[in-house]
Amino acid sequence: MNPNVVSEEYLNLQKAIINKQDDLRERFQAVLNLNLSKNELNGEIPVLPQLKGSPVPGELYRESIKEIESVLSEQQPELREELSRLTANLTDEDILKWIKESVTYNTAYFQTFADKNELSAWLPHFLAEQALRPFMHLLAQACRPFINEFEVMGTCPCCGEPHRLGKIENKGRKFLYCPRCETEWKQRRLQCVHCGDDRHEHLFYITIKEDETAKLEVCETCNNYLKLVETKKLLEKKTAALLDLETIHLDFVAQEEGYGEGQ
Ligand SMILES: [Zn+2]
Ligand SMILES: [Zn+2]
Repeated sequence: MNPNVVSEEYLNLQKAIINKQDDLRERFQAVLNLNLSKNELNGEIPVLPQLKGSPVPGELYRESIKEIESVLSEQQPELREELSRLTANLTDEDILKWIKESVTYNTAYFQTFADKNELSAWLPHFLAEQALRPFMHLLAQACRPFINEFEVMGTCPCCGEPHRLGKIENKGRKFLYCPRCETEWKQRRLQCVHCGDDRHEHLFYITIKEDETAKLEVCETCNNYLKLVETKKLLEKKTAALLDLETIHLDFVAQEEGYGEGQ
């Protein structure tokens, strides 16, 4: 399985993982108390790197890994042997390291871990990141009362993920929506979300014929893009993770046209 290719199979796997993450969030919510005080936080940098203690207890993270592993094993039986070998050998020290390196999205660390343990290159980081998401969701919940007062340039004000998804609601109100932690916040000005350029003529839009609900917003100045979804045409409320997945064709279009980070 290659997670870079979006097949029906991959979509189903992701949906099953998203459901499991919802369950885990609810389960962990009962035992995890993230008390955040806005006054102790700097409103110009994301919340996550400012926290003094880890928002992810080791024991709960291990439980999360086990649960995500069981979804993966069920959906992709060919991964069973590799997964059980991976999780059976995870020491408490590894768990703490995984939390730290998944919080900072350290791809290189997980790549080395995969090589050392003769695992598929993508598997450890995929598992680590998916197991982390319920904790990111809980952090986002704790930040919700004050997150709109934050002004962080270029990334999610809660978890620090670079922007890639926005939504336009009724009356044309534009929100940014983070697929990693599910934080939703209002964009204050019409400007590029990546570089802050507010000269309107430098932003342009790419629409796709067969798709009326989503488009690309591209910035001429920094060459980066944002996917914009019109949610008034969608009846159900979808999570950012799901919208991100359903609009992955727009990422391919953007990359083909040479837009995006590092392009
Ligand atoms: Zn986020
Ligand atoms: Zn820009």
